[in-house]
Amino acid sequence: MGRAFVYVILGGGVAAGYAAHEFVKRGVSHGELCIISEEPVAPYERPALSKGYLLPEDPARLPAFHCCVGSNEERLTPKWYKENGIELVLGTRVKSADVRRKTLLTATGETITYKILIVATGARALKLEEFGVSGSDAESVCYLRDLADANRLVNVMQSSGGGNAVVIGGGYIGMECAASLVIGKINVTMVFPEAHCMARLFTPKIASFYEEFYRSKGVKFVKGTVLTSFDFDSNDKMTAVNLRDGTKLPADMVIVGIGIRPNTSLFEGQLTLEKGGIKVNGQMQSSNSSVYAVGDVATFPVKIFGETRRLEHVDSARKSARHAVAAIMEPEKTTEFDYLPFFYSRVFTLSWQFYGDSTGDVVHFGDFLGNSFGAYWVNKGHVVGSFLEGGTKEEYEAIAKITRLKPAIEDLSDLETQGLGFALTL
Ligand code: FAD
Repeated sequence: MGRAFVYVILGGGVAAGYAAHEFVKRGVSHGELCIISEEPVAPYERPALSKGYLLPEDPARLPAFHCCVGSNEERLTPKWYKENGIELVLGTRVKSADVRRKTLLTATGETITYKILIVATGARALKLEEFGVSGSDAESVCYLRDLADANRLVNVMQSSGGGNAVVIGGGYIGMECAASLVIGKINVTMVFPEAHCMARLFTPKIASFYEEFYRSKGVKFVKGTVLTSFDFDSNDKMTAVNLRDGTKLPADMVIVGIGIRPNTSLFEGQLTLEKGGIKVNGQMQSSNSSVYAVGDVATFPVKIFGETRRLEHVDSARKSARHAVAAIMEPEKTTEFDYLPFFYSRVFTLSWQFYGDSTGDVVHFGDFLGNSFGAYWVNKGHVVGSFLEGGTKEEYEAIAKITRLKPAIEDLSDLETQGLGFALTL
């Protein structure tokens, strides 16, 4: 049993949706393109799962957040794929790949052949078991990567109303889920090993603003330690979690957001891997010329930094996917991918954006008591990164532009005095 396509996208997440949109824009013919996804639904905007999806009132539900609504573009419903002659093979896991033969074998026993493959398998959530903690298969322990996880989390939240949740991890997932739990009237304690939240990006000063804001909403923080075990009563209902520092926290539910691992295993030994992802060139093409990789699974040259990186953010998934399709359909017209890293988050009434790289000296600016402040990162005498909370569209565009331009900075205190004005007047 088997089918053959010119183009196959393996994975049906954010990158797959944007790649499909780009294929159609560039005139793919009916029957040429197939998307295979383990998830049972057409590609959707994954960030919605930790934001609108968890809200107690008027929560976001599919089909409202199918790609590409996150970029204010067309919403690609299953009908759209059908009308454009794109085969959606959903609820189907690919269990092996042979890049020499150009075949994929599905868990249902079908062999799918391609001429060009785009690997968009994203990443999976790291499990506590991988850190030597057992018990995270319990009903009230939740992870959050896909729609099935989100539905489970919503159910656990509903049955924990008024109770206690412990959020493990102080990154995006932890911070966004903690906000949703509080809005859902669940008491939240966040636990993480670092000295402050969002440790990979935030400075202590920036983190302290968000932690204070969270405290004002009732969130407690236990830092510098990790979870070691769960307590359950005789009915297997969770009662508490135990931390390495000896603390016992009452808990009806736990959300774990401790990082992700890219889904590369199908290609290990077949494609060159680097920095945990599939290594690609500026056309998103892997070490096998018929295989491209995009989104969270791809390690690509970030021109502005002069080095390869693997990014775990939605904007990079969207743009790398579009770029790969451009390179496949119009190779002679497509230059090297020239991407400016961009991350964002929205919690409660807050909203921030970050562009570039968080290396070098940090210059904070603005009003940390009000909700309008930011920072520049200056490395080797040039602006390499910018952060802004509570900006307008024009202000965010200005910090993006300045980061791309990398202006020379002679005097850090002068930059501090000018603050956002520096970006706005450049
Ligand atoms: P994914 O969107 O993860 O898609 C991968 C797809 O491949 C999935 O459908 C998966 O089932 C499928 N797949 C994997 N292996 C197989 C296989 N063997 N066979 C078949 N199918 C397979 N980023 C931001 O910048 N800002 C945010 O606010 C933000 N919020 C987020 C909130 C949540 C809850 C999560 C989970 C992520 C968030 N992100 C955010 C990150 C962003 O969603 C990812 O960077 C983006 O989804 C990556 O897109 P992708 O297509 O590479 O991978």
